[in-house]
Amino acid sequence: MSTPSLHDAVQALAGETIHLRRDLHRYPETAFEEHRTSDLVATRLAALGLQVRRNLGKTGVVGLLDSGRPGRTVLVRADMDALPIQEERDTPYRSTINGKMHACGHDGHTAILLTTAKIFAQSPESLSGKILFLFQPAEEVGNGAAAMLSDGALAGITVDAVLGLHLTTELPVGTVAARPGAALAATDMFTIQVVGRGGHAARPQETVDPLLMAAHIITMVQSLVAREVDPVDTAVLSITSIHGGTTFNIIPEQVTMQGTLRTFQPATRTMLQERLGTIVRGTAQTLRGEAALTWQEGTPAVVNDPEMTERFLRVAREVVGPQRVLTPPPITAGDDMALWLQQAPGCYFFVGARNEAKGIDKPHHHPQFDIDEQALPLGVELLCQGIHDFLRS
Ligand SMILES: [Zn+2]
Ligand SMILES: [Zn+2]
Repeated sequence: MSTPSLHDAVQALAGETIHLRRDLHRYPETAFEEHRTSDLVATRLAALGLQVRRNLGKTGVVGLLDSGRPGRTVLVRADMDALPIQEERDTPYRSTINGKMHACGHDGHTAILLTTAKIFAQSPESLSGKILFLFQPAEEVGNGAAAMLSDGALAGITVDAVLGLHLTTELPVGTVAARPGAALAATDMFTIQVVGRGGHAARPQETVDPLLMAAHIITMVQSLVAREVDPVDTAVLSITSIHGGTTFNIIPEQVTMQGTLRTFQPATRTMLQERLGTIVRGTAQTLRGEAALTWQEGTPAVVNDPEMTERFLRVAREVVGPQRVLTPPPITAGDDMALWLQQAPGCYFFVGARNEAKGIDKPHHHPQFDIDEQALPLGVELLCQGIHDFLRS
């Protein structure tokens, strides 16, 4: 399909895409409970004649479009989950579910990918190879992709390239952004349990004070990023909660702390995990106590293949013009798109959805979050052109 006719096909379906997004927006479903969304996706993919598999990672769905002609296989991913937030923006399509809303744009991602599937299903003659349309649950809690993979979402499929997008109100509508290399951070969570010996606050010599240990640990930890991480690499190490003690005259037995580590390079991640453990244990020991560090490993960094990302950026410049294509700095948030990008080289890109004139300027996860729906057809066109390009070897 030539570029003008693809643009026309996308525009002809713009109303339907917006309608679909509004429908999804009215019925937000949080992680692993995307039952209505999953039914809607599977029904539509089946109606398009795709080979549909369901219940992958509870509510995940894949639809395979096989041209019957030899070629590469491109995986395209959308996430489907909403957030436990009460919507505060008054629109005709506002959430009808109390305490839940699509505050990250995943309703838009699902609608964009369904329209993309429709466009390819309508003109299979334009295609050689296969496209795997993948609808993922539970991105917001970080383990939807892992759940789909462990249920065999890619069993028997060799993926050659991976593509996905995220709408963003960080960028104005009409713009596109992609960063070659590490684009989003690996996100790990940790818990530190500091153990001393409790007693009367008036007789500290008979106690081992866990609060003092915790205070030193917090201070020591801040030297890691400042003194042990290469300044041209980057990392975040934050202690975000501290709990211990009950009243003014008791030194408690224990203090519990939690925090997060964000890194871009696997070696930096490993180094900081090890060094944090050393500091936690060593500081406690120095002050006559003990401390244990436990990790809840999150997703790895989202790494865009440099060559595939250059290819996508070239496509994007043709679609929106070179001035509207940006290369953003790395983002210290995470996304389990990382796991799909570990399957094959690919690109995860951002589509601007901010429009101040329409009052659409709230950050993601905000109760008044919304997207400029003009970003939806643009997202479809970018995915279609990107898929066409990635199908070429
Ligand atoms: Zn989010
Ligand atoms: Zn999101």
